[in-house]
Amino acid sequence: MFDYQAPADLLRDKVILVTGAGDGIGKACALSCAAHGATVVLLGRTLSKLEAVYDAIEAAGHPQPGLCVLDLVTATEKDYDDLADQLFDTFGKLDGLVHNAGLLGPRTLMDQVKPEAWLQVMQVNLHAPFMLTRAMMPLLRAAETASVLCVSSSVGRTGRAYWGPYAVSKFALEGFMQVLADEQDGTSKIRVNSINPGATRTAMRAEAYPSEEPGNLVTPAEIMPAFLYLLGDDSLTVNGQALDAQ
Ligand code: NDP
Repeated sequence: MFDYQAPADLLRDKVILVTGAGDGIGKACALSCAAHGATVVLLGRTLSKLEAVYDAIEAAGHPQPGLCVLDLVTATEKDYDDLADQLFDTFGKLDGLVHNAGLLGPRTLMDQVKPEAWLQVMQVNLHAPFMLTRAMMPLLRAAETASVLCVSSSVGRTGRAYWGPYAVSKFALEGFMQVLADEQDGTSKIRVNSINPGATRTAMRAEAYPSEEPGNLVTPAEIMPAFLYLLGDDSLTVNGQALDAQ
């Protein structure tokens, strides 16, 4: 496991947007960021799930979160721009952006993948991070320092049979991370990195490995040290890196 002990106030006064914040790793990330002092903007497609995370953060007495319902398959350029405007009016900056939302899509031979399914996976796993980053760049630049975090996968670093558009989208996400990171010159206060969660007990993992015993897997909460490290100021000099959470 990634060896990092986050100080309790690591993310105090930071505003961090997490996509796919209603479930799995994104939910754990949102809860953990809030517990370390951040104001978290919860983005996802299912209102009831986001509300449950919102309520848990409020009940724990952590900073009041923001909430944004957005389906990343159908989101338009205007949706992203409107969100950026709202965040600018409310917070004036964004210190962290976690591209976590993901779609597994079909796991089959590449030539059996339906074009529609291919496009949906690309929308959520690749196009949405691009569109969201593009819209949020002025807010990220307005922060004292900012961290963009791309949640990748081991099959986004080494190809594997039957992982179809999911694997290809994660390879592209790694490329997106590298290019964006390389564009941050000496004057930029933005850093961009990717993180591979490794096998983690979530709905997506269960969908990919239905016969696996979930109890043997680490929980989303257990992999949070790496996320906190990359979002907090202890990683200020880390840019363009592909890290593993386990
Ligand atoms: P989950 O399926 O548990 O969560 C995925 C999240 O993404 C959900 O909150 C889901 O929302 C959201 N999401 C999916 N489609 C959309 C959409 N169209 N618009 C908005 N939000 C959407 O998966 P994990 O927590 O396991 O995955 C999180 C990330 O970690 C993903 O990027 C995944 O690829 C990566 N990962 C996970 C691994 C694992 O073992 N779990 C291993 C390697 C990488 P909703 O709940 O409303 O459907």
